[in-house]
Amino acid sequence: MSEKLEEMKKIRDEILVLKDSPLAQERIDNGVFPVIGEGSHDAEIMFIGEAPGKNEAQTGKPFCGASGKILDELLGHIKMDRETVYVTNIVKDRPTNNRDPKPEEIEQYAPFLDRQIHIIQPKVIATLGRFSMDYVMKRLGLEEGLDSIGKLHGKSFEAKTAYGTVKVVPLYHPAVAVYNRNQLDNLKKDFEVLKKFI
Ligand code: URA
Repeated sequence: MSEKLEEMKKIRDEILVLKDSPLAQERIDNGVFPVIGEGSHDAEIMFIGEAPGKNEAQTGKPFCGASGKILDELLGHIKMDRETVYVTNIVKDRPTNNRDPKPEEIEQYAPFLDRQIHIIQPKVIATLGRFSMDYVMKRLGLEEGLDSIGKLHGKSFEAKTAYGTVKVVPLYHPAVAVYNRNQLDNLKKDFEVLKKFI
């Protein structure tokens, strides 16, 4: 087994038995799945969303519901194959009724995301929505550049990591186009930024 796969499986196994996590307990009680992430472990680009929704918790796959359809459309727009990228979330268990993740939930699950970033070592991290934008930018020492997602979407930042430099591109969450199809063109334009880096 490749080292990367082994490391990812370790993460999955730890999340499966996560202690002191109300979200993990709810997942166990409801007989649904954690959503670890999906895609290539050698991806040059990693997409980071917020937390699984209902469809995701039922299947264990990220972005497989309505937001996932939009994500697929956006990837198609820039001719990027979903299998060649890696897609995950900060929080790996579903918050009830799709509410926003709480700060303590982000704190509890984020170390798993940090490890995933170091396993994959992407050249580009595209954050989907304000929660992952805030977390990733702070974590990678870009807090000075932080602003509202309305100001930062489609821009790019360069951060240093233990494995080298990475571009961070904040993007709106695909869900914005689920509720407002007019937003799709704006999202497509933002996604075009990613083409420059790969
Ligand atoms: N929204 C997210 O942020 N992540 C998913 O996996 C699905 C919907």
